[in-house]
Amino acid sequence: MSIEFKGRVAIVTGAGGGLGRQHALALAARGAKVVVNDLGGARDGSGGSVSAAQAVVDEIRAAGGEAIANGASVTDFEAVQAMVQQAVDAWGRVDILVNNAGILRDKSFAKMELADFKLVMDVHLMGAVNCTKAVWALMNEQKYGRIVMTTSSSGLYGNFGQSNYGAAKMALVGLMQTLSIEGAKNNIRVNCLAPTAATRMTEDLMPAEVLEALKPEGVVPAMLVLAAQDAPTRAILCAGAGSFEAAHITLTQGAYIGIAPDAPEELVARMAEVTDREGEQVPMSGSAQGTVEIGKAMAAAKAL
Ligand code: NAD
Repeated sequence: MSIEFKGRVAIVTGAGGGLGRQHALALAARGAKVVVNDLGGARDGSGGSVSAAQAVVDEIRAAGGEAIANGASVTDFEAVQAMVQQAVDAWGRVDILVNNAGILRDKSFAKMELADFKLVMDVHLMGAVNCTKAVWALMNEQKYGRIVMTTSSSGLYGNFGQSNYGAAKMALVGLMQTLSIEGAKNNIRVNCLAPTAATRMTEDLMPAEVLEALKPEGVVPAMLVLAAQDAPTRAILCAGAGSFEAAHITLTQGAYIGIAPDAPEELVARMAEVTDREGEQVPMSGSAQGTVEIGKAMAAAKAL
């Protein structure tokens, strides 16, 4: 089964370089009309120019595809709304949103200024919120939408010096979890992509031979699958160097301990049982955790 995007309109944020550029090129090569968004700033988010986005648009057009450039910052909701309008004016719809734009302001938490924490949250989390909010009504009306949030192993598992980045990236998983539930009735599928790739974002974080193996092209297939008509929803797909994995937020079977005064001591005594990963599950929604817990308590009460 071939994955193609003929007639689809995609917005890829932060597509002037790195992963976003490859995402935009791949979507266009498979038939999508693409809004190539990029602020065109430095890795830490300073500066800006539309020329980075325009260069990718030129590349797509030279290959026979359709694309338009946009230099909005994803942090500016009005500019993001204008970007969505730009796509609608040109092509009448928006089918795919790849929230990819991002910056780094790494420092250990002890040394990090709150301003750097807030800026990273603003670009990654609020940037994705702004872009998603700007297409949400349209996708609901169309009864079609595919949204990819770019999360990170730093968010899923942590990384020294990236408390701001990791917090923002894990927040995107939470955003995806709820939007995939809210979007389901109108065929809006929302997923997370956790990439590993050699880009300017990682060039000084990994050794040269590792960077060589980590071309952004090794991530792109996962984005295409998450943006496709037959995309899953609520997946966290990890991708790097052509390898693919899925991450899950799981719940162990746990144990019913009750609320007697000695419950904390009992909990310590049975911690191995509570944390045992055998039979762990992925709840269908947040409220499912409560349902599981009440079920165990009621079963314990019945057994008395
Ligand atoms: P990159 O720096 O090459 O690309 C990020 C792009 O986002 C840049 O072109 C930048 O100009 C643009 N951008 C930054 N702020 C923006 C804003 N406010 N509005 C619009 N555009 C903006 O880095 P990359 O590695 O290609 O990163 C792409 C995404 O993948 C990011 O979300 C990043 O956090 C994520 N990611 C990358 C890796 C990796 O290994 N490279 C790992 C995990 C997650």
